[in-house]
Amino acid sequence: MVIFSGIQPTGRKHLGNYIGAITQYVAGQDRGDPAIYCIVDLHAITVDYEPAVLRERLYDTTAILLAAGLDPARCVLFRQGDVNEHAELCWLLSSVTAIGELNRMHQFRDKSVQQRQLVSAGLLFYPVLQAADVLAYRTHEVPVGEDQREHLELMRDVAERFNARFGDVLVVPEHRIPEVGARVRDLQEPDRKMSTTGGTEQGTVYVLDEPDAIRRKFKRAVTDSGTEIVRAPDKPGITNLIEILAAARGVSLDEVERDWAGGRYGDFKQAVADAVVEYLMPVRERYAELRPDEAALEDVLAEGADKARAIASRTLADVRAAMGVGRSVTPAA
Ligand code: ATP
Ligand code: MG
Repeated sequence: MVIFSGIQPTGRKHLGNYIGAITQYVAGQDRGDPAIYCIVDLHAITVDYEPAVLRERLYDTTAILLAAGLDPARCVLFRQGDVNEHAELCWLLSSVTAIGELNRMHQFRDKSVQQRQLVSAGLLFYPVLQAADVLAYRTHEVPVGEDQREHLELMRDVAERFNARFGDVLVVPEHRIPEVGARVRDLQEPDRKMSTTGGTEQGTVYVLDEPDAIRRKFKRAVTDSGTEIVRAPDKPGITNLIEILAAARGVSLDEVERDWAGGRYGDFKQAVADAVVEYLMPVRERYAELRPDEAALEDVLAEGADKARAIASRTLADVRAAMGVGRSVTPAA
């Protein structure tokens, strides 16, 4: 069972990334053979960015992942830009990707309207590179949040089209979307997902936020004019808080509702804040220890890149051969 997922080194990682993705990565280390996690700097350049800041954020993200419990001895953790196979496979897969499908992707539509200067071709191509990331490792399972469902469908289509056209070379991956926390919502605008690039500052809880900041954000969280602490489609704010509490405490949604039957919104918000402070505290502490040693972080990434390259280069050789691209290589006897 090959597990693969990618995370952007843009901005600061938030509670949605933590619950929806990072905790699944940590759990995946026990099931993946191997579990492969990639920090996707090549994806980060599809929107406006500063090169020096990108490097800083990459270290931030690496340290957060290690602090959260990724263990380089039990997983492959690397930087996308260190493994050339991703970019090459992206180009090769573009030949079996329909431009109309890329145009319809929600993420492309949402992010292109946010761009002030330039809507890059890279933003349109983002899902093709993502398909390359996953398919290069012949991945079976991709742990992601709900927002990535559409991109996963696209990469399955790409893999199937490739195999139909060139022979059975690629593995068609399945997504793994968690039952709780797949779509953590912005605390101020609970109709939207908590997001690095598109959310509100006060509605976004960062993994590295100080306890006081976390408490303040939950205190101001938007709820509704009702009084009941239950999940409902017309109660996105309260539903979100119930999910966050369940994830932070490791209990079921029903259990949270039972515990809080008859409770007050104000007390509930405070309890959620306390639980999240406690949940993130060990990560924040460990991060502070790990982040300063950039040489050590580079060592981890370099070792991961070597392992990743060894796998991806085999897939690329098969893809090139099947497509008739480049010099013909006789397979080793
Ligand atoms: P951006 O908004 O710029 O796309 P992001 O917040 O989505 O950034 P990514 O690095 O793109 O961050 O996502 C990393 C992982 O976190 C992905 O698997 C994604 O599905 C998941 N994720 C992102 N936001 C949420 C959320 N609000 N709830 C649950 N999972 C999320
Ligand atoms: Mg995203």
